[in-house]
Amino acid sequence: MATQTTSSSIALQQLQLDNARALLDHSMLVALPSPQESPAGYLQGVIDGLCELSLKDPLTGLGNRRHFCAVQERTIDGVARSGDPALLLMLDVDHFKRVNDTYGHQVGDQVLQAIARAIAKCVRPMDTVARYGGEEFAVVLPNCHTSFGATVAERIRAAVESLVIPISPSLTIKVTASVGGAYAPEWVRSTASLWTERADLQLYRAKTEGRNRVCLDHPQEIYVSAEEKNLLFGHLALGEPAWIESVTGEVPGASALGAAQRVN
Ligand code: GH3
Ligand code: MG
Ligand code: MG
Repeated sequence: MATQTTSSSIALQQLQLDNARALLDHSMLVALPSPQESPAGYLQGVIDGLCELSLKDPLTGLGNRRHFCAVQERTIDGVARSGDPALLLMLDVDHFKRVNDTYGHQVGDQVLQAIARAIAKCVRPMDTVARYGGEEFAVVLPNCHTSFGATVAERIRAAVESLVIPISPSLTIKVTASVGGAYAPEWVRSTASLWTERADLQLYRAKTEGRNRVCLDHPQEIYVSAEEKNLLFGHLALGEPAWIESVTGEVPGASALGAAQRVN
């Protein structure tokens, strides 16, 4: 039987693009070419605009949680490939509920926008700042060596503390934030959720130790979880390598790989 080839081209008018177009016009992200002038360019513009929109936090213009998760996964791959350390910072505004309760939600929103701008100014172009949710922000710093990580985290904390946020001629607001950070383990392929959990733990420490401070774990303090060990050795299905049992926690050669880590 002879095979038939059919053309897959579709007319632009057949697509329901009005809602997408309205959304993009409203967000003013991109200037779309006219559909008559360049149908393909117009369609590509709509697709690109929607992709961009799906990764942005509308309040602050930063990356949203979806963007953050994608960057985090990419960074974990990079760490596993290159062994270069990567740092995740989680920042939570201190006593932010009081700002809302005292001045209202809209003023709270202005404070979040000012904080977002301040954090973005503290990092390198290769780093990603995202709004993780509510009054929490996340920063992913690939290729970030320990001393640099501590410097950036402190720079961000200090930048938030020094903000004087103008709300009206008679009102300015000052806030502080707590920052927790964790390095992705360099010699094992971790998961995004374990990495976030570690940074969250440090954030919790910063909160309980008094707020307006930075707490970072150090690569040598990283304990490799059972889940991570499974990611590393699970495919061998031979149980744990003998050297893990025999060294009471010290991983031989780990320092040669760039970190002195311990195994639980
Ligand atoms: P802590 O120092 O322990 O973090 O105290 P907190 O008051 O910052 O924490 P809590 O979790 O009690 O309150 C967070 C507040 O953030 C409550 C919520 O209404 C507010 N919030 C979350 N998202 C937004 C937002 O998009 N805009 C505004 N204005 N407020 C928000
Ligand atoms: Mg919070
Ligand atoms: Mg808070």
